[in-house]
Amino acid sequence: TRRPYIVGNWKMHGTRAMLSEARAIDRAAQRHMKVEVAIAPPYTLIHAIHREAEQIAVGAQDCHEVDGGAHTGDVSAAMIADAGAKFVILGHSERRQNHNESDALVRAKAESALAAGLRIIMCCGETAQLRESGDAVAFVKQQLAASLPPAETMPADIAERLTVAYEPIWAIGTGNVATTDDIGEMHAAIRALLIELFGEEQGAEVRIIYGGSVKPDNAAAIFAVPDVGGALVGGASLTADSFMGIALAA
Ligand code: 13P
Repeated sequence: TRRPYIVGNWKMHGTRAMLSEARAIDRAAQRHMKVEVAIAPPYTLIHAIHREAEQIAVGAQDCHEVDGGAHTGDVSAAMIADAGAKFVILGHSERRQNHNESDALVRAKAESALAAGLRIIMCCGETAQLRESGDAVAFVKQQLAASLPPAETMPADIAERLTVAYEPIWAIGTGNVATTDDIGEMHAAIRALLIELFGEEQGAEVRIIYGGSVKPDNAAAIFAVPDVGGALVGGASLTADSFMGIALAA
């Protein structure tokens, strides 16, 4: 089994003043090698963090689906890889909502990122309404199946290149963490889907991480749930203290 994977999604937070926090996270990560720690800062900080970091990987929060061209304001997978990114978060609910990203677009981005040699963190998750109506599991399974590239186009080392992040939308930034029962049920359903899509061996090895109001004081309970391979952390990843508090619980 793989090391727990603890990823900070800084979202649209962070100027160069935050580099000291990244340094502190990197130093702490060197003392806790049992955990794989990574951060996804805004594009503007990727290269600076990459140059200084000795232990943690740096990644991006999105990429465009083509390599280059007349796309004002967009950034390609090849460009972020060139800046030092090792991975990219794709299909985050904030991009699906704020930028109308469809499953098909997210899949195209995933194909582009994998072709550029990046690892991907594929996000999925349901709205509060879907959770209340009892359709959350069915929704997430179809969203994920439609957002992932088909098995035959995936690289051979699928479990190395792909992580799935389950992030219920109603749990993001709200302090309303999902119950451990709900997390366990969803991660088991995602595991079954990954085995269906990629086969017993690879599907069982892909890490499935949870995101949505993970904090140092609830992290241990979440990590104890079967099939939780780590966390995708928003707000609590912005200081080394709280982020590494979570990593230490893994
Ligand atoms: P919070 O940890 O702030 O709830 O954000 C979760 C998230 O969206 C990470 O991608």
